[in-house]
Amino acid sequence: MNEQEASDIISNASLPQNSFHYVVLVAEDANKQVLGIALASHFKKPNFFFLDFIATHKQRLSGGIGGALYERLREEAAACHSIGIFFDCLSDEKALSFNEEERKQNIARLKFYERYGARPLAGTKYELKRSDYSIFHLVFDGLGETHRLEGKLCKNIINEILRNKAGKKCTAEYIKEVSRSIKGTIKLRPAKYERGNELKVHTSIHDDQKIALVINEGHIIHHVRERGYLESPVRIKSILRELNKLSFFETLPSKKYPDKIIQEVHDKKYLAFLKKICKKIGNSVTSYGDVFPIRNAARLPKDIELQIGYYCLDTSTPLNANAYKASRAAVDCVLTAADKLKERHMAYALVRPPGHHAERKYFGGFCYFNSSAIAAQHLSKKGKVAILDIDYHHGNGQQDIFL
Ligand SMILES: [Zn+2]
Repeated sequence: MNEQEASDIISNASLPQNSFHYVVLVAEDANKQVLGIALASHFKKPNFFFLDFIATHKQRLSGGIGGALYERLREEAAACHSIGIFFDCLSDEKALSFNEEERKQNIARLKFYERYGARPLAGTKYELKRSDYSIFHLVFDGLGETHRLEGKLCKNIINEILRNKAGKKCTAEYIKEVSRSIKGTIKLRPAKYERGNELKVHTSIHDDQKIALVINEGHIIHHVRERGYLESPVRIKSILRELNKLSFFETLPSKKYPDKIIQEVHDKKYLAFLKKICKKIGNSVTSYGDVFPIRNAARLPKDIELQIGYYCLDTSTPLNANAYKASRAAVDCVLTAADKLKERHMAYALVRPPGHHAERKYFGGFCYFNSSAIAAQHLSKKGKVAILDIDYHHGNGQQDIFL
């Protein structure tokens, strides 16, 4: 890639694109030194990847960095259920090369990709000379699957690639001519270098690279409809429906954690109150804060209704035995997910009841325990923690607890 091409890609990257978005993969060593980078474009319709380039550190050309980046890209392309990866590659054929030195490099490149089953498309005019005299093969890697590159699909893909990736080197006339040459199912060039010796590279993501997903399975017991209850079980169901379409989450069971971890964030008396009152209410009725006494820690009201109001921030958060059980189980889930970060890059706790409106001493906004604050407090023993609160409302809970 020359400087002009590099600057084309960079300026292209800053423009809003409708048909694709960029995927950047970076290879680092243990000291966070960048060893290599892969830039690819994920086109949505049709769903395919185009590899823009792989660049590695000058001194690391033969260190397997390029291979590692390409294998990671294959995993990404497979996880997105794409048709495969396409990319331009200068020719290894004598008649289409400028000189022998360049041809040697092209042979090495095509040989490298052939190990993955990636081969140039055959029988099209893709190799037509461009305005800067460059000639490329369009190489296709079907990620170990035998995709049929039907003519219409192939035309669409080539149009997208030439329109978005070839810049001014391909005029509309040029694109039309290449497009016209695509007829019927397109075949790949037979293997030249690695015949019968292709690498069996798995395209699924290793379990330890997946995002740990901890779901509060018992959330369903907490469902109160009597006051037009907004916070309902369908929330988990609809999020899970989307997550289940992806292959990079691994669902893991939650573990039990002692109350003392909660007490690092919530007032001891509040925790005891919540546990006791919910047990007392049971599940045949649901109670709400209706009367709000003046808060005087030295004189806690004796009456149950007044006590509920004393610890509550609103009139719509329901209290019953299941509310406690479900919110306590949600705490176990977030702590399990937090501890999973010892071995995973990412973890996601999918829980309800929610938590971010719960303050140190008060429940409200359908929240009882501030799960994210509890997880943040737990993780803060290992290093700095940031909470990114994307709720529609102000994160009063975290503010009260940490500020
Ligand atoms: Zn909210």
